Amino acid sequence: MKLSVLGEFGLIDRIRNISGRNTSSALIGIGDDAAVLKHSSSHVMLVTTDLLLEDVHFERSYTDYYSLGWKSAAVNLSDIAAMGGTPRFCLTALGIPGYVTAEHVLDFYRGFNTLLNNHKTALVGGDTCSSPDGLFVSVTAIGEAKSSLVVTRKGARPGDSIFVTGSLGDSAAGLEILKKRRGHGAGGKGKNAERLVEKHLRPVPRVAEGRAIALSRCATAMIDISDGLSSDLFHICEQSRVGADIIADRIPLSSMLKNREGKLTKPVLDYALSGGEDYELLFTVPPARVKKVRSLDFPVTEIGTIKAGKRLSLVDSFGKRSPLRKSGHDHFRTPAGTHEGRLRTPRGERRG
Ligand code: ADP
Ligand code: MG
Repeated sequence: MKLSVLGEFGLIDRIRNISGRNTSSALIGIGDDAAVLKHSSSHVMLVTTDLLLEDVHFERSYTDYYSLGWKSAAVNLSDIAAMGGTPRFCLTALGIPGYVTAEHVLDFYRGFNTLLNNHKTALVGGDTCSSPDGLFVSVTAIGEAKSSLVVTRKGARPGDSIFVTGSLGDSAAGLEILKKRRGHGAGGKGKNAERLVEKHLRPVPRVAEGRAIALSRCATAMIDISDGLSSDLFHICEQSRVGADIIADRIPLSSMLKNREGKLTKPVLDYALSGGEDYELLFTVPPARVKKVRSLDFPVTEIGTIKAGKRLSLVDSFGKRSPLRKSGHDHFRTPAGTHEGRLRTPRGERRG
């Protein structure tokens, strides 16, 4: 069967189906942001791995090595944050092509270690080899959490409010600016454009926020937004067997993004819905905990409600519902007709 028919997540399901060795200490295996492995009677280990490939996830024409190192660490720590855990260790595997110098590699590790140091996480090993074509980066992160505090994608219930940290869409807008600059030497100047670009190149994983959300016991389900709000909400809804209403006007957009309305190729909301790579946290909160979650000391926004059934809808300012499409990234599916198709390069850029 062609991978374009199965899609990335169909393929992962098939892999899971033929890899079903049950071990009682793997509390959660394939399917969530990180595997949850029993560590002691009270604690679990969280393990996750992500791949970043040149010309798939990044291009050298707009990424410096320091930022690449930073981002490779950030996307992995984000998955630990999405489980409510604390990252502790990382391992890196590099496939290095001929045009990459030792200084490039060391710059990569300067960026990587800065992000790790910010989160008290240590690099403890990895593997290095030459690559015939393209830079290949694989990172594994190991974290820990109290067993009773782990938040999976599975627990959302009808009536729960849907919350998100920070703002959405900046990273995808930053990527568009970077690509335009590369293409025609112009794509956006000024402080706002620079901040959007930085959000794309050096995302900050919401580690402290993920832990605080878990500790407050407010969240019934949580995921990090790597593929786009619509896709990642789909993952929560699929695994929790529920639907959702998202109120379009409530989706948090930064002033930097709003200021670029009209200068970007699409309406700004599209970047928030299907852009991806924001690495914010999307989580669901039962009615009795909504007040508590609002009192946390970082910005969270209520953007909708979990519903019974399977339907995911976007509700506009007139109360009109339209189906929310799973328009985020899938590595194998042709994105014809979606926003994503227009954002990506012909070589099918990005995301893990
Ligand atoms: P995320 O976007 O949070 O990194 P993914 O969408 O990449 O998560 O993966 C979803 C789930 O599938 C994760 O639990 C991941 O570990 C698992 N997974 C992805 N690819 C493979 C693979 N090739 N073999 C086994 N498990 C996989
Ligand atoms: Mg994730």
